[in-house]
Amino acid sequence: MKAAFFDRHGGPAEIRVGELPSPAPGPADALIDVGAAALNHLDLHVLRGIPGLELELPHIGGSDIAGKVVEVGSDVTDWAPGDRVVVDPGLSCGECMTCAADQAPLCRHYSIIGEHGPGGFAERVVVPARNLYRLPNDYPFETAAAAPLVFQTAWRALMSRACLEPGESVLITGASGGVSTAAIQIAGLAGATVLAVTSGEPNAERVRELGADHVIDRTEEDFASAVRRITEKRGVDVVLDSVGEAMWEGCIRSLAADGRLVTYGGTSGPIVSLDVRRVFWKQLRIIGSTMASRSEFRAVMDHVFAGRLRPVVDRVMPLDDAREAYERLEAGEPFGKIVLVP
Ligand code: ZN
Repeated sequence: MKAAFFDRHGGPAEIRVGELPSPAPGPADALIDVGAAALNHLDLHVLRGIPGLELELPHIGGSDIAGKVVEVGSDVTDWAPGDRVVVDPGLSCGECMTCAADQAPLCRHYSIIGEHGPGGFAERVVVPARNLYRLPNDYPFETAAAAPLVFQTAWRALMSRACLEPGESVLITGASGGVSTAAIQIAGLAGATVLAVTSGEPNAERVRELGADHVIDRTEEDFASAVRRITEKRGVDVVLDSVGEAMWEGCIRSLAADGRLVTYGGTSGPIVSLDVRRVFWKQLRIIGSTMASRSEFRAVMDHVFAGRLRPVVDRVMPLDDAREAYERLEAGEPFGKIVLVP
């Protein structure tokens, strides 16, 4: 089968497109004919090499997959060839206490399709059948593949971890990113007032179209000062951030008393400085969040399929152009998701 893969770690130049053996499903697995698969920043991290993560090479990336079932393993009874599906990228054991509780923390054995094992940048991929979720007949693969990782991450962070309430205000940084474009819509759906930070007028316009109530252009003004101005010095109830180092201090300053900062990444750098006086005096909470449980994945995908949440697709590219797709993501150019079609 055709696949985009790398056989040594490095930059996008290491991505090659060629023939690899087609995988075979185990008893509890399904073989999927990939309709579309989307890129995430995770794919860049995996390509560069994640300390402590020993990959079998060549490695195929791609955590976000939509397609059709081709074949199922002998233990699989609820899926059949031809079924249209979207895949939950989260791999959990399904048997431990945390899996049973279906809440934070995630399964101790939690891992991600395309990170710890082969992903969907190929014509075919094998996934556990319990990761499949039915895709409505009229929902395009390209749009469905743009949703799973970012929408579940945004859903858990805002709804389960920050416990966002109607009438609250939320600040979303790096607003052109995949998770942020999901989070803006989810926060709106939850009845919150959305402040979003981005750079440049084209991005600002698109962020407004997604439903942000206030868009802050950080190239025009200091975003924390803008938050103070917009909220009349009160600050926001929730900040959702994955920029990390470069924006951390401003994020803390933007919080109202009793506010919550949810972090799910550190794209500008992982080491932050923190004035603890702000934390105790304002009684802030700093909350980590990552990925989501199966039930959170299904909850948010139901909103996506019903059209209440709209995956933002930057562009659809052929699998043959996988290297260019990685390059575009690394350059920070996309607004929303890059989707590859084999
Ligand atoms: Zn488990």
